[in-house]
Amino acid sequence: MKYANHITDLIGNTPLVKINNITKDLPCIVLAKIESFNPGHSIKDRIGINMIEDAEKKGLLKKGGTIIESTSGNTGMGLALAAIKKGYNMIVTMPDKMSIEKIDILKAMGVEVIITPTNVDAADEKSYYSVAKRMQTKIKNSLYVNQYDNLANRLTHYQKTGPEIWNQTDGKITHLIAGVGTGGTITGCGMFLKEKNKNIQIWGIDTYGSVYKKYHETGVFDKNEIYSYTTEGIGEDIIPKNVKFNIIDCFEKVTDKDAALMTRRLAKEEGILSGNSCGAALSGLIQLQNKLKKQDVVVIIMPDHGSRYLGKVYNDKWMKKQKFI
Ligand code: PMP
Repeated sequence: MKYANHITDLIGNTPLVKINNITKDLPCIVLAKIESFNPGHSIKDRIGINMIEDAEKKGLLKKGGTIIESTSGNTGMGLALAAIKKGYNMIVTMPDKMSIEKIDILKAMGVEVIITPTNVDAADEKSYYSVAKRMQTKIKNSLYVNQYDNLANRLTHYQKTGPEIWNQTDGKITHLIAGVGTGGTITGCGMFLKEKNKNIQIWGIDTYGSVYKKYHETGVFDKNEIYSYTTEGIGEDIIPKNVKFNIIDCFEKVTDKDAALMTRRLAKEEGILSGNSCGAALSGLIQLQNKLKKQDVVVIIMPDHGSRYLGKVYNDKWMKKQKFI
């Protein structure tokens, strides 16, 4: 009989799929790594189990303990799978801009969800980072996972996602495109791929409202760059330890509207019902198309599934309210 011993054993080894219509004017092949094939439907399943096993090895989490995390939703799901497998309790803090689907999915997995205001400074005591940190001090045998600064995050992508991409492209990859949130994906994959071939270009996709692009180009952390935006999962108002800026060759900013419209195109024109940051990444790539040549092999990370955005980018009412259509 062929079966997995646990749902978490099915994490990783996601497919690469050619983008056909949207990229037809680009000179080269564009391959999407479809991370919604993970059991929790996002790339964050990969880091969830690894960050927990790393904490267990370090003695930071013991039997019957509580996992606490601040998350835009997907890491919560990845951690929830690990918590279910290993019998931990789990609490997440989530900014109130995140989709209701993400909140309900976490509740379905037995997670306690605490909603915090989006429009506060990261250092504010009400921010989702601060609330999570404070809870760790109050709950015995608990762990604040902190995907932003926990280097087991990028190590997962260095050890697994990067090698998968290298092997799937027979080492022919020339460009990796990934949205940057915690920076774990782009840094881990980028570190591995540049070790294999230092000429591989690593392009990070950023949002308007995030500090990354300016910080990368000038070294200045400019608070004026920070404002609320609708694209979920990428862009930051902090500099997480997982981002290694010298691995990233350039950042490209994509507007919320372009990200949302491209996400819709991915569904209608490619049959890929993807998350909001997938549209952002593809939009960013198209903005950078003049840098591409015929023989290039581009891999673009598609972090999650569209089912989490049915009330947002796939909802006409929401899109009209945002003035995106
Ligand atoms: N897209 C989505 C939907 C995400 O949830 C995240 C994680 N915040 C990312 C992209 C960015 O990935 P990373 O945190 O590894 O930079």
